[in-house]
This record gives sequence, C-alpha cells and structure tokens, in this order.
Amino acid sequence: MSSTIIQCPQCRDAGQTSEVRRGISTTTTEYWEPYFGEDGKKHHHNPNVATTLYKCSEGHQWAITVPVRPCRCGWSPLSEEGSDE
Ligand SMILES: [Zn+2]
Ligand SMILES: [Zn+2]
Repeated sequence: MSSTIIQCPQCRDAGQTSEVRRGISTTTTEYWEPYFGEDGKKHHHNPNVATTLYKCSEGHQWAITVPVRPCRCGWSPLSEEGSDE
C-alpha cells in the first residue's frame, strides 16, 4: 500500500496550502498485448496513460498523467514520450 499525496504544485512553490479537487479523468485506449521477454517473463508494456485534471481552491489547474499499468521491469509509457520526435 502506498499513499499518494496530491498538492497543488503552484501553491506548494509559493508556500501556501490549498484544498485540491479532482476533475475529469481520461484514459487512452490503445491496443496492446503483453509479451514474453528474453528471460521468459511476461512484460506488460501497456502504452495507455490516465490523465486526471486537478483544481485547487486558489484557482490553479494542472494535470497528472500516470501509466495505467507500469511494467515490473521499469518500462513506462511516459519515458517513451518524446523519443518519437
Ligand atoms: Zn494552487
Ligand atoms: Zn517490461
């Protein structure tokens, strides 16, 4: 069990505190399949990410994007972003 702390990054930088509310959450739906690597172990390289919007009581808004399911090998769809360019 891990607890996630959600704080407004702008308020935190300013040394303020604020209440944070969750907004719309969207998840990408790309097709993918798990595969077995050279070590025979199953890898879940799920390219899909979930983006959740947050809004703080001071009016700041931001989005947090996380992998739907990171692989145990450390692979993450977020680290692949930008390598296409
Ligand atoms: Zn804020
Ligand atoms: Zn993997």
